Amino acid sequence: MARVIFDQVTKIYSRGDQPAVSNLSMEIEDEEFLVMVGPSGCGKSTAMRMVAGLEEITEGRIIIGDRVVNDLPPKDRNVAMVFQSYALYPHMSVRDNLAYPLKLRKVPKQEREQRVREAARILDIEQYLDRKPKALSGGQRQRVALGRAIVRNADVFLMDEPLSNLDAKLRVQTRAELIKLHDRVRTTTIYVTHDQTEAMTMGDRIAVMSLGVLQQLDTPQNLYDYPANKFVAGFMGSPAMNFIDVNVEAADGKLYASTPGFRMHIPDQKARLLQNYIGKTVTMGIRPEHLVERSQLNGRIPEDSLIPATVDVVELLGNEIFVYLTNRGTTLTARMDPETKLQRGQEIQIAAEPDKLHFFDPKTEEAIR
Ligand code: ADP
Repeated sequence: MARVIFDQVTKIYSRGDQPAVSNLSMEIEDEEFLVMVGPSGCGKSTAMRMVAGLEEITEGRIIIGDRVVNDLPPKDRNVAMVFQSYALYPHMSVRDNLAYPLKLRKVPKQEREQRVREAARILDIEQYLDRKPKALSGGQRQRVALGRAIVRNADVFLMDEPLSNLDAKLRVQTRAELIKLHDRVRTTTIYVTHDQTEAMTMGDRIAVMSLGVLQQLDTPQNLYDYPANKFVAGFMGSPAMNFIDVNVEAADGKLYASTPGFRMHIPDQKARLLQNYIGKTVTMGIRPEHLVERSQLNGRIPEDSLIPATVDVVELLGNEIFVYLTNRGTTLTARMDPETKLQRGQEIQIAAEPDKLHFFDPKTEEAIR
């Protein structure tokens, strides 16, 4: 097993193009499960393919273990890739599919059989060893594809959207299986997905990418609580964080966030951060779950923090409701308890949990800390 280091890695496919990956530096620790997440086209696959040796590195270095691998052919890197297409050989049994990578590497027959048995046991597919892939479900096929990575005793697993061919229920189940699998084999894993929920539930740490640039690398909790910029704040979390451009006003020793539709007291611990923005515009971020309806406040939040709003739509989701609100042209999404009885067209007052407010510089979009 091994750590993986990206050292100022840039990939430009053809001259004049924007870099697909731009000056990427990060270290994936030995035994870590790192998720790279970002919208389509942000450079995730390119980064993975450079680790695998399937793409040349334009600038910088990639290190696996203690070796710079830039000039090492893929077969000498000892990494195993799992893609969304399972790429199993249809005419071979599961057993032969699993053994094939070992055969290619001239592993002796006895050891091959032993490693295939071990991988099949780990993945709980022993009962399917003699079947052909077409006689397996999608989830079982994906496990065989994983098995091919496991039998190789690779130093690093690279997984590129491996669950995207599975239906929603199976995806959730296979996600959990993958985590358990990683707990057992502890192989350093880089896992690529565009799905922020998948990233949040799976990663030890998450690397958020946008337009080829690493935006933030941190634990799921820290990304959620302390997003470094507006992109990360808006990308992680569902429904997405509300952003409102507000003017920072000072009056009677307090700061207020003001828009044409409301004037909200900014709690002192946040106001301290905004001293350089008095009289200026900042972007205020509030997660939907941090908006509370007045009746649920129990006096926790002062009157001068309340925002008036009209209920546009209420979506019932069983254990929670999504409430879409407007305040003078500003739309807000709130995620509330179903006990909050609300109806379309109702005029209500809401407040944001004071210690959960986020502020971003409107020009740089960096978090104001
Ligand atoms: P992601 O995996 O995040 O969807 P990719 O790494 O596939 O992103 O793509 C990053 C950028 O590089 C995109 O703009 C994409 O169009 C471009 N790109 C990817 N592969 C190639 C290629 N083989 N040739 C030229 N451009 C490519």
